Amino acid sequence: MVQTPVKTVAYEAVIGLEVHAQVLTRSKMFCGCAADYQSAAPNTRVCPVCMGMPGVLPVINKAAVEATVLTGLALHCTIAERPKFDRKNYPYPDLVKGYQISQYDLPISAKGWLEIDLDGERRRAGITRVHLEEDTAKLLHRSDPSGESYSLIDLNRSGTPLMEIVGEPDLRSAEEARQYLMKLRTILQYLGVSTGNMEEGSFRCDANVSVRPVGSTAYGTKVEVKNMNSFRSVYRALQFEVQRQQDVLQSGGRVVQETRGWSDAKGATQSQRSKEQAHDYRYFPEPDLPPLHLEPAWVEQVRSRLPELPDARRDRFQEQYGLSLYDARLLVASKALAEFFERTVAAAQSGDAKSRAKGAANWLLGEVSRLLNAEGVEIDSPNVKIGPEHVAEIVDLLEHKTVNQTVAKEAMEEAFRTGKKPSQIVQERGATQITTTEAIAPAVDAAIEANPQAVKDYLAGKETAVKFLVGQVMKATKGRANPTMVQEMLTQRLSARKA
Ligand code: ADP
Ligand code: MG
Ligand code: ZN
Repeated sequence: MVQTPVKTVAYEAVIGLEVHAQVLTRSKMFCGCAADYQSAAPNTRVCPVCMGMPGVLPVINKAAVEATVLTGLALHCTIAERPKFDRKNYPYPDLVKGYQISQYDLPISAKGWLEIDLDGERRRAGITRVHLEEDTAKLLHRSDPSGESYSLIDLNRSGTPLMEIVGEPDLRSAEEARQYLMKLRTILQYLGVSTGNMEEGSFRCDANVSVRPVGSTAYGTKVEVKNMNSFRSVYRALQFEVQRQQDVLQSGGRVVQETRGWSDAKGATQSQRSKEQAHDYRYFPEPDLPPLHLEPAWVEQVRSRLPELPDARRDRFQEQYGLSLYDARLLVASKALAEFFERTVAAAQSGDAKSRAKGAANWLLGEVSRLLNAEGVEIDSPNVKIGPEHVAEIVDLLEHKTVNQTVAKEAMEEAFRTGKKPSQIVQERGATQITTTEAIAPAVDAAIEANPQAVKDYLAGKETAVKFLVGQVMKATKGRANPTMVQEMLTQRLSARKA
């Protein structure tokens, strides 16, 4: 029998992300209302402008424009000299005016990139544009005890500034998309233009996905995936969607251009609306706003305010502190952690700068991160009781061999819980390391006395037997004896017997 070979085609994913980030300004985008809508009681941050009353006029928030220019510059974009605002028309209950003031063909900035690194390989992913618009109100869907459902509207968010960052279809896997998203969020946090909080909806991502046979240069039909509210759900949604599209093609079908919603519970995307139901936004220039004029000299002034960004800081951490790429990347991924690290290195006093840095990095990425995760808090949360000086003390106590690793870990944990100084904790516990030969000698002699077999083994040439004896001494001193000294004293006594 002749078997026809099964034709298998390898596919690759093509992904482009659209990110909406809330801009941290005191007031809203086009009115004087406070923008702190998250902490305010519903409908207390409103005025005729952001309620969409007739006859009012918007005024552009300069701080929001500056934040967008700063972001564009950080993402290596070109800043437009004369950008403009446009009306994007669509009817929806959370859009009070029936249109959103956004930007269409002349965004504030365009044509940039950000760097992603995967397993040490660095690559640029293109940024199509960064533009400014206003956010919508918030609808709350409820149902009363009889099962009747209704919706409430909170206008506090209406008209708050929102930045949209559109990426080129340059990403090739769910993992690349996650790296891109995390890097973008870190950059916004370094710039101080957004909290980047995904769970609170301050940083939202829509993902466009298509697949194509490997080697093909044309793009396949794309699907837009919405409703992801964590990095993990973006990753899972993309994994699912890429596989789904591959399966469709492999079974001879065609991918339909549509919007799909991700369901965390189902672990799947589901069709929401097809191309035929897509909006026609009827964009036109916003007649109530003057065109913007961003003078090059002003843009340069904004550029001079760019802080050190995560990639540059990562490189500097490797260079200046001798950190591994891995450690440097983890530390700079959080601005707060990176700053905490540098203050720890500065506060520690023992050893040279590189050994202090190594110690600080180890503690921050190890034990301290573990404690923070267990509490579900960030290092700069107001209820975190330790500061750089606590971690610096731990580094110093270890470097001076005042305590051993086990005691240091316990002291770190107690400091984290209570805010007490590690040196004080160690004093109170009487847990300082025993570092004089006189104090260690009795335990060493007792160990030799009590373990004739180990001594015999050692004398017969089995050098590792000494490890066992070290263990016995450490046990007897409750871990407080300096292990290096114990080992030295044991070998000395045993070799004396050998001779
Ligand atoms: P739309 O007008 O539907 O929003 P755009 O061309 O403006 O489409 O692209 C929006 C987003 O979709 C961008 O992030 C872009 O990178 C991405 N994108 C465009 N084409 C594709 C494709 N074939 N596959 C995956 N993503 C794509
Ligand atoms: Mg789109
Ligand atoms: Zn207002």
